[in-house]
Amino acid sequence: GTAVPPALDRACLREHQLPEPTGEVDKNSRGRVTVIGGCLEVAGGVRLTAEAALRAGAGKVRIATVAPIAHMIGTLFPEAAIAALPASASGEIDAAASEITSLVEKCDAIVVGPAMSCRNHASRLVDTLLDVVTLDHRLVIDAAALMSLAQHADRMRRRMRPALLTPHPGEIAAMLGIDPKDIASDAASIAMLAARKFNAVVVLKGSCTTIADPSGTIYHFNGGTIGLATSGSGDVLAGIAGGLLARGCEPLAAALWAVWLHGEAGRRCAETIAPLGFLASDLLPLIPGLMHSAG
Ligand code: AMP
Ligand code: MG
Repeated sequence: GTAVPPALDRACLREHQLPEPTGEVDKNSRGRVTVIGGCLEVAGGVRLTAEAALRAGAGKVRIATVAPIAHMIGTLFPEAAIAALPASASGEIDAAASEITSLVEKCDAIVVGPAMSCRNHASRLVDTLLDVVTLDHRLVIDAAALMSLAQHADRMRRRMRPALLTPHPGEIAAMLGIDPKDIASDAASIAMLAARKFNAVVVLKGSCTTIADPSGTIYHFNGGTIGLATSGSGDVLAGIAGGLLARGCEPLAAALWAVWLHGEAGRRCAETIAPLGFLASDLLPLIPGLMHSAG
């Protein structure tokens, strides 16, 4: 292992300010996020991601998910616009390039991967997405969409604006072709290796989370809580990051703020509810107040 990187704390957030909202901007210019994800098996996870994006201050959100559940999600979450994508027999997104192109044109940031369960379908989706997005489009890649990213490393490196990747240890192990058991002892070097290989800001999640920027900046965050290891927690983190990118944050600032807000919201839930048993959705209403008071 190498030296411990500096801690992500309030002082660090002040060095990476959020964009100031000005009085003139409407909901379109404050940032439009599209979440592409979900499957029949995990039908509602994309809702967590989409709500997190709005709670982080994005102006508008669209959920693109498999057609059989798209209408239901739209009814459950009236703040979101909905796009219904074709589903495979196994209930995964199976979209054509034309469909992904029209989604990309209508937004400022994309979050791809949450609540998908098949890495092959997720890989095809990422392949199509990388063909149709501009090289400076704002991208968050999460969950199953990370599992086959090694196949797309060349195209990731050609991007002008680094993407933001949110792997847990199993996902970064797949991205780099290494053993998940070897990660904990050297998370900082491994996160930086991935940041350089994929030209991306990498958030390597765990009880301690490492944030690495391809230019060499690195931070660690120890401020979370065990109860954050719960279903849907990562979907919320990816949504916060997407919302901040859509508002105009640079990828490193979006990653730092997302990790801090998610961890701090978890700490508040542990205090006010209990250390275990709060839900990923309990984090969501805390995000705006935390963001306001930390800024
Ligand atoms: P995921 O694995 O995608 O569901 O994401 C889980 C989230 O919970 C990540 O943000 C992790 O950093 C966080 N997390 C997981 N385990 C712990 C832990 N023991 N202590 C604090 N945070 C954790
Ligand atoms: Mg996850």
